[in-house]
Amino acid sequence: MASGKIGVSTKDLFPIIKKFLYSDHDIFLREIVSNAVDATQKLKVLASNGEFKGELGDVKVRVTLDKEGKTITVSDNGIGMTAEEVEKYINQIAFSGAEEFLEKHKNDAATIIGHFGLGFYSAFMVSDRVEIVTKSYKEGAKAVRWSCTGEPEYTLEEAEKAERGTDIIMHISDEEKEFLEKNRLQELLNKYCKFLPVEIAFGKKTEWKDGKEQETSEDNIINDTTPAWVKKPADLKEEDYVKFYHQLYPMAEDPLFYIHLNVDYPFTLTGILYFPKIKNNIDINRNKIQLYCNQVFVTDTVEGIVPDFLTLLHGVIDSPDIPLNVSRSYLQSDGNVKKISSHITKKVADRLEEIFKNDRATFEKKWDDLKIFIEYGMLTDDKFFDRAQKFALLKDVDGKYFTFEEYKTLVKENQTDKDGTMVCLYAHDKASQFSFIDSAQKKGYNVLLLDGQLDTPFMNQLEQKWEKTRFARVDADTIDKLIVKNDAPELKISTAEKSNLEEVFRAETPKDDAKVNYTVSVEALGENELPVIITQNEWMRRMKEMSAVQGGAMSFYGELPNTLNLVVNANHPLVERVLAEMGTKTASELAPIADEMEKKEARKAELNKAKEGKKDEEIPQADIDELQSVEKQIGELRDKRNNVLANFAKDEKLVSQLIDLALLSNNMLKGESLTNFIKRSISLM
Ligand code: ADP
Repeated sequence: MASGKIGVSTKDLFPIIKKFLYSDHDIFLREIVSNAVDATQKLKVLASNGEFKGELGDVKVRVTLDKEGKTITVSDNGIGMTAEEVEKYINQIAFSGAEEFLEKHKNDAATIIGHFGLGFYSAFMVSDRVEIVTKSYKEGAKAVRWSCTGEPEYTLEEAEKAERGTDIIMHISDEEKEFLEKNRLQELLNKYCKFLPVEIAFGKKTEWKDGKEQETSEDNIINDTTPAWVKKPADLKEEDYVKFYHQLYPMAEDPLFYIHLNVDYPFTLTGILYFPKIKNNIDINRNKIQLYCNQVFVTDTVEGIVPDFLTLLHGVIDSPDIPLNVSRSYLQSDGNVKKISSHITKKVADRLEEIFKNDRATFEKKWDDLKIFIEYGMLTDDKFFDRAQKFALLKDVDGKYFTFEEYKTLVKENQTDKDGTMVCLYAHDKASQFSFIDSAQKKGYNVLLLDGQLDTPFMNQLEQKWEKTRFARVDADTIDKLIVKNDAPELKISTAEKSNLEEVFRAETPKDDAKVNYTVSVEALGENELPVIITQNEWMRRMKEMSAVQGGAMSFYGELPNTLNLVVNANHPLVERVLAEMGTKTASELAPIADEMEKKEARKAELNKAKEGKKDEEIPQADIDELQSVEKQIGELRDKRNNVLANFAKDEKLVSQLIDLALLSNNMLKGESLTNFIKRSISLM
């Protein structure tokens, strides 16, 4: 029996493996099983090129749990090792600069293990003692047993072993006894080994017999050795892709589309990505893209490897060229990884374009679910924007879909305003904005439906990318103001009438919500337009919407009160009626106030004129005092006038009725106000 000390620097390594690497301790199984798989694959290669002439036999990796004996054994019948090879590959972990490296990365298990190729030593994270019983495939080779407790000292002796191959026997420590639970082990195998290329047997299959679960003689194979992504796309049908999807995510709904990735130059990468149908946020967080390295599961944190917007996709990426066991920041600066990322983006865009071109009907049907991914991509990745603008769709309120080019052609002529800006109209809720949509459509305008979570920033982006284009929500203003053409109708009433009428309506605007302000304006709209319309400034509303999502500097806009515009249509017969009533009912009271006001205004103008061109100290004190008092009197007269108008408004049910109708058509009339409206409507009938 030989004994010795493992290579010099490992004495620094063991405490680190045992202590600092604690958080990642479940990777031991992946490391040991994939070594067994490698040994098996190597033997297959040797057999195929004639170097190994014996019987390959039934090549399997077995994972055996002995709960009483407190061991987990991973056995393979691969190439095995001679005593010299154990000496070389297991004992001599010679490396330079090790201590420095260890110190720097002591908190990053994966990096250390990857850097030194210490996969095998990860067994010590969970074991008090590890034994290797191995026999090389080479003719005449003798079996050896290596044993080590995790101290640098080990023993190496001859052993009895009939078959070629290797058994790794891990004597699980008390702190790690969770791994001696069958379910826990099953879970790890399922996580890391589900798609390994060599069959992995974990115990035997069971069946129900004589009222209890009994073991059969058949191996319980836990993996699928040829998962869909390693097959040729030509050999797969649509159903195969869907089936594989459910293998990955048993609970998920059918995906929208899949993309089979298959690259071998300048890097190797295979995989299948799926556009999922997302029902809620839980799905986004639960089901993620899984990263594999030669069919060994590595991680489902793929940030940095795939572009941000594609992390929402599902599926598998397998590449031996992604440096796996390194830190995230290193990964992001790696040239290969950057290439991979832009390659995936390109592939995703190509595939979507292909589906769009070949089967537009299906593409349209799935667009509503797909939209969030595409918009996210277009917003965050300029290259993707350029590609996606060929197939990204806009949907109108009638459910018709248009490409960007088609849409521009559709609206260009009719929806360009007098300054040459193309105005794209949109609604975000068909039902509550019905009357506005109706007005727009009556003018022959098209109205888009933009109701997605990313639509507001997306519109901003289109406004920047498209030439002379503006998006306006249908309720952002009256339709004639949204797209200003030259033939705007004229206001036929006097300035005084206009300002009195505005005061009448202002008096009756809702005052119960301190966060909502109303501005009132009387305008000449078409006779077919509604008598009163409530609109909200496009820009302000967008700022508020963005602030709700982004917070931060934008939250300033969120704090501002909501300003709504109440537009009174002077050309509508009902408003004309209010105007006529106002004339008869307030004239006698308003006339003396107006007379008085006119005199005061005249005096004020005189005084202001006298001030012109004089320095402050040259103006007589008497004039200053008088100007002040005239201004005060004007203010009082205005209050008096407003009072008269407000009293009129209060008694004139038509005013509140028209305002309520406008609120109602914006879905803003609720609670007590709604009840009052109903009562008033009945009394008016
Ligand atoms: P890596 O696999 O990264 O080379 P490991 O520490 O996991 O590092 O393994 C070290 C070496 O030990 C392997 O490269 C291989 O030569 C040998 N080895 C480990 N496990 C086996 C096995 N089951 N059969 C044959 N050789 C093995």
